[in-house]
Amino acid sequence: MFDNIEIAENDPVFCVFENFKADQNPRKINLSVGAYRDEFENPVIFKAVKLAEKLISENKEYTQITGISQFNNLAAELIFGQKNINTNHFFTCQTVSGAGALFLGAQFLAKFLPHKIIYYSQPTWVNHHFIFEQAGLEMRSYRYYDEKTRGIDEDGFLEDVRAMPEGSAILLQVCGHNPTGLDPSEELWTKIFEHLKALPFFDMAYHGFASGDIEKDTFPIRQFVGTTRKDALVAQSRPVPEIFRIFRISGFSGLAQSFAKNMGLYAERVGTLSVISAAGNAKAAGSQIRQLVSATYLNPPCHGAKIVKTILGDCDLKKIWLDELHDMSNRIKEMRIALKANLEKRGSKKCWSHIIKQTGMFCYSGLNLGQVQELREKYSIYMPNDGRINMSGVNPKGLFRGPRPIAGKQK
Ligand code: PLP
Repeated sequence: MFDNIEIAENDPVFCVFENFKADQNPRKINLSVGAYRDEFENPVIFKAVKLAEKLISENKEYTQITGISQFNNLAAELIFGQKNINTNHFFTCQTVSGAGALFLGAQFLAKFLPHKIIYYSQPTWVNHHFIFEQAGLEMRSYRYYDEKTRGIDEDGFLEDVRAMPEGSAILLQVCGHNPTGLDPSEELWTKIFEHLKALPFFDMAYHGFASGDIEKDTFPIRQFVGTTRKDALVAQSRPVPEIFRIFRISGFSGLAQSFAKNMGLYAERVGTLSVISAAGNAKAAGSQIRQLVSATYLNPPCHGAKIVKTILGDCDLKKIWLDELHDMSNRIKEMRIALKANLEKRGSKKCWSHIIKQTGMFCYSGLNLGQVQELREKYSIYMPNDGRINMSGVNPKGLFRGPRPIAGKQK
């Protein structure tokens, strides 16, 4: 019965990481998976996380299907910048990190979206394809990266946004775009929201890593729902249409949030899925999502959510966390400057200014497949085939290790 099953495609980024781990070269460099490394190449556990873990009371009981409610409220406040968010218009639910939130949202869209089409930036995170196709949606691309300028193709992007039909969806990365490191400017976001007819599904996996400031990185969302205007979301305040001042859409929009990167909780699998309903139907949408959770894993894991809840609910811990995040983002910025300077110092005549113009964890280096393979084979430097570099994998030791191929590696 199962004789004809074909081997499914593996996540190419994790494949590169596996190859890196198997490489015996002591001077190997890992620039693959999007996880933060300090200047000594070590993974980091945030101080705030260690402190929070000491305060957590453990039990192994089920939580609720939608997760720990205090966590959900604090996580929603982080996204939307307001307390007491109007539950007719907003629903937030704990998820199995960002990928879990995307998959739940994808399943929701596959059930309720009139046209089963979602548009994604060309290029996008490779797992987006797996997630939305698995859920049964058709994926179509919109123009994003311009190879000539190594920037965003703004005209192409807007033209494609205008052409997307009502009843379809668009996947928008909020900040630290994976893999290009290119984020729309505030002006471009405004234009996108003005022209949008498709329902936006925001993916926010790197907030805090782009600018070093969570508030700045969540700006597109605040702008979208109108929270840049004081009190817009507070339960008892304004009438519905005013909340969605930019947004002419009467349907839903969604947001997947991850705490994997910005709290270093990769393995804890903690995130949220939010639904924003202009028509005030968020409770019904939430009930559908609750049922999807029940059918998938019944209850989310708790430990990571308790850490996040403890940090977000305590001013001192929150400050420690935000400072650490700011420092990490700064280290990445310093490495961008150093990498560019070093390439130039070593005599490269190519223009490398895109390295410092891009933001977040990634640099879309512009290296082609042949160059990526050569770096891997001759120098034990590992990155995905598209030339995306995890900038936190760049450190002074790696940068200054010398231009020669590593002994024994040269073919
Ligand atoms: N979205 C993007 C763009 C990502 O790059 C990632 C992880 O690399 C995620 C979402 C989800 O990450 P996680 O499931 O670890 O929260």
